[in-house]
Amino acid sequence: MTAYKLLIGGKLVDGDQTMDVINPATEEVITKCPRASEKQLNEAVAAAKAAFPKWSQTSIEERKKLLNKLADKIDEHAGELARLLTQEQGKPLPEAQWEIGATAGFVRYFATLNLPVEVIEDTKEKLVEMHRRPLGVIGAIIPWNFPVLIVSFKLPVALLAGNTVVAKPAPTTPLTTLRLGELMAEIFPAGVVNIITDQNDLGAAMTKHKDIAKISFTGSSDTGKKVMASVAETLKRLTLELGGNDAAIVLNDVDPAKVAPKIFGGAFMNAGQVCLAIKRVYAHESIYDKLCDELAKIANNAVVGDGLEQGTAIGPLQNKMQYEKVKGFLADAKKNGKVIAGGETLDRPGYFIRPTVVRDVAEGTKIVDEEQFGPVLPVIKYKDVDDAIKRANATPYGLGGSVWTTDLKRGKELAERMEAGTVWINSHIDLAPHIPFGGAKQSGIGVEFGQAGLEEFTQRQVINITR
Ligand code: NAD
Repeated sequence: MTAYKLLIGGKLVDGDQTMDVINPATEEVITKCPRASEKQLNEAVAAAKAAFPKWSQTSIEERKKLLNKLADKIDEHAGELARLLTQEQGKPLPEAQWEIGATAGFVRYFATLNLPVEVIEDTKEKLVEMHRRPLGVIGAIIPWNFPVLIVSFKLPVALLAGNTVVAKPAPTTPLTTLRLGELMAEIFPAGVVNIITDQNDLGAAMTKHKDIAKISFTGSSDTGKKVMASVAETLKRLTLELGGNDAAIVLNDVDPAKVAPKIFGGAFMNAGQVCLAIKRVYAHESIYDKLCDELAKIANNAVVGDGLEQGTAIGPLQNKMQYEKVKGFLADAKKNGKVIAGGETLDRPGYFIRPTVVRDVAEGTKIVDEEQFGPVLPVIKYKDVDDAIKRANATPYGLGGSVWTTDLKRGKELAERMEAGTVWINSHIDLAPHIPFGGAKQSGIGVEFGQAGLEEFTQRQVINITR
């Protein structure tokens, strides 16, 4: 059995405690893994702080070289990492393989970015330049739905800008990140990257820590609010990528049979545990019945099972707490709507819920108003598209949204009226590392990806020279 280790100050070390990691497809313990104490968190922050002066002085070319090495290492170990990811997270192996490949791709893309000096004024009297300086130690806090990919949204960008990092995966999905830590230990100088784990008890200590300069957090909006309150004390920089309740608005001009597979994919990927998943479908009354039937047909045919079994399309919920939570949404859906596919758990160990489609449901119910973060999709009927936009926007969230139509001009007009950080036309969850991504309203603060995302890991410094 592999012995997993924390990465602190360049050394792979045991945790002061241990914890069990559960396979959500079997409910069996995969392995024991290290659990860091607050003392070890402090050691990791101290190591990152000590490594910062030298690392921040390395050239960006040198940092790019090491990031490319990391991408190569991830590719080299892709098979092993993907299997481990499926075991601890539950997602079907092809989705895990995609996640590992995308992680290497994101790292590689970020290694192409630069932080050029911007000349603001260059006159006879003055030279004014804007530089981008690293911030110091970055605390990266990761959720359990994409445990590896979300590391790549933060760590390589922070490092490229000259920062050092302490990263913390979620308690139920630490293994692949720890394995990544072992690979990184062979690449980066001691202290530049540190990986610790916890049982949901060190996140708050990170956000309060006086030697962490910025928190880059991905997780639920409720925890995000706690993070924001906690960083106020030290005025840390903050990026928050939080929850969503994305609406897909389907217009009357589409062929339901054509769009249904794409809408299904956008809603049920990773068993619906995607911040940017379609969580509500608004369908025009003229195509409503047909779209409901098509979605139900796909759901009924989807193979639910262990992600390591060939042919599995939908894996288990990632952890028991989320499973119990989604069962609550299921009960609400049965009470307030008509379940036309799924609606059950599987009669075997594991946190399985069949992909569920609910029709004849409306606002004022839990399944429409709250983020389900699981495989239960409400389909809501509308008559008038202006009303659909209003209803889609009537949520504190604003992560993503989509419009489905053959009239792209009309689609764009409607997209511009949706209150969301990203609005797609005829797709959903379509992310790329060069396109900034971030939430409106209570779905987040700041962006990740692209030049804008890189700049969030820097401090502007103006150099103002009088000639
Ligand atoms: P969560 O908020 O429970 O946990 C996220 C991380 O925060 C974990 O590492 C956890 O240990 C840590 N944490 C817990 N308490 C903390 C505290 N008081 N201070 C600091 N950190 C703390 O979220 P989750 O259940 O792991 O993830 C699901 C949620 O994340 C969903 O709402 C989903 O929409 C959201 N999410 C958002 C994005 C995005 O990019 N916007 C991406 C993935 C997931």
